Amino acid sequence: MERTSRTSARYIGIRGLMLWLLSTSVLVTLATCLVVAYGVMRDSLIHSALESHKAYAYKVASSIDQFIHSVHERLQYSSQLIGQDFTNRALVTSEAKRLQAQDSELQIVIIADASGNILDGYPHLDFAKTLKLGEAARRAASAGRPLVSQAFTSPDGHFSVFISNPIRDGQGNVLGLIGGVVNLREGGVMSILIGGHQLADAFAFVVDENLQVLYHPDPTRLGVVLDSSATAHAALRGGEGELEATDYRGIPMLAGYAEVKAAHWAVVTQQPREDALHPLRNLMHDTLLKLLPVSLFGLLLILAVSTWVTRPLRQLANSAQHVPELGASRELHALNAWYAEAAAIRSALVAGVQLLDLKISNLNHAAESDPLTGLVNRRGMNAALAILDQREQQYCALALDIDHFKRVNDTWGHDVGDVALQHIAGIIQSCSRAGDLACRAGGEEFCLLLPDTSLQVATDIAERIRTTIAASPLDQVGAMTISIGVAGRTSAEQTSAAILKCADERLYRAKDAGRNRVVSAG
Ligand code: GH3
Ligand code: MG
Ligand code: MG
Repeated sequence: MERTSRTSARYIGIRGLMLWLLSTSVLVTLATCLVVAYGVMRDSLIHSALESHKAYAYKVASSIDQFIHSVHERLQYSSQLIGQDFTNRALVTSEAKRLQAQDSELQIVIIADASGNILDGYPHLDFAKTLKLGEAARRAASAGRPLVSQAFTSPDGHFSVFISNPIRDGQGNVLGLIGGVVNLREGGVMSILIGGHQLADAFAFVVDENLQVLYHPDPTRLGVVLDSSATAHAALRGGEGELEATDYRGIPMLAGYAEVKAAHWAVVTQQPREDALHPLRNLMHDTLLKLLPVSLFGLLLILAVSTWVTRPLRQLANSAQHVPELGASRELHALNAWYAEAAAIRSALVAGVQLLDLKISNLNHAAESDPLTGLVNRRGMNAALAILDQREQQYCALALDIDHFKRVNDTWGHDVGDVALQHIAGIIQSCSRAGDLACRAGGEEFCLLLPDTSLQVATDIAERIRTTIAASPLDQVGAMTISIGVAGRTSAEQTSAAILKCADERLYRAKDAGRNRVVSAG
């Protein structure tokens, strides 16, 4: 027992080892799959989000481009009309008024001369003057081509741009210009154009060529110059594209950008990377939840398989530790060693146990035998008892004593007495089994050791010996009788001396009770 606990304290059991190995490999594989799947899905999600941003930015930029083109077209139509008779004030005024009234996006329409001096403004010249459009008009006049001015702040605090077209005569000479102010206010044309292409969880902003924010869903960002914005810089280099960058707050963003060619502005659409990955996190959460019962079932399966596979080895180990005990050989044979290694170990253990058994039975033939009867002598008997004690093996002992043997010697002489002893020894030997050990304890006293035998069976054997002797008369001497005391090991700690003493006491009780009888327990 002590040896078992010491062994288990130092070594991990094969079932524990197998359980640990299998569950670790399954869990590691599962975790790796989840990590790889997460990585692949994250990359794919980011890729498609970036593509969407690029497409979104391109659509918004195209819409703004189209809007600016349509304003230019309307201005061009008016400038052609006015160009036919620029000196006709009535014509100029009516066309400018018509344009301003018809186009809700044109807050103010102005007419300027070839130097950019504002001649008139609609609906009011004063209003046009408060906007300080002089500089914008002069630049537009000197450009001599359709132009979108740099953004400026109108008195109502909103960003505005001045879109203009030159007025030419029939020979192509620039006579002046017609232009309109488009307000980029919240809810205005920009909101409509950008809002028309909403992308979930994303927002778009517009910067001009000086990196100044013209439109932003957050009004506090309007007018801010995005010097350090990687996205705005990339956008103003032209074309369209996508990139991952951190915003001014240090938040990682997924962004798309596209150029508004008509005004050299850039549209940037972006979304926090975390928001884009939100569906993935939900997906992983759901996957884990669904995997949980399957994993638990898998672990239970591993537990069952480990128990099943390691059972023969555990039973063999257990049997190996109890080999010296009763029935180890039988226990080993009953064990289901269903695979090659376990079967090989079982065979080796069985062979070991049989070798031990053989050790005892071999004593019959060793030098420790009695020359007269051929039975094991006292020394041999003590050696056998020592082995039984060491193995703590259960056994029964029969103490046998021939009744009135002195008379045989006295009547027929010592030689006949010896023949009688041989006759009785032969009967005792023939009544015993292969594993039993018949000994001549001394004089006309015998001892029969019966390993792995119950007291009841030992008593039956004793009775058989007694009746056989009584029914087997020797020529000359006639029938003899024998008295037998039977004792068995009742606990593992009981010594052979105590067992033999008990058998002897029962033998004397048989003698006292009249001889030719067997006395067992009770
Ligand atoms: P009880 O029924 O009480 O046993 O009576 P018993 O006559 O058998 O008494 P006891 O056991 O005292 O007698 C044993 C006798 O066995 C004494 C001895 O002469 C005889 N004896 C002992 N060893 C040998 C032997 O090797 N050869 C012969 N022939 N006789 C022996
Ligand atoms: Mg005697
Ligand atoms: Mg006797």
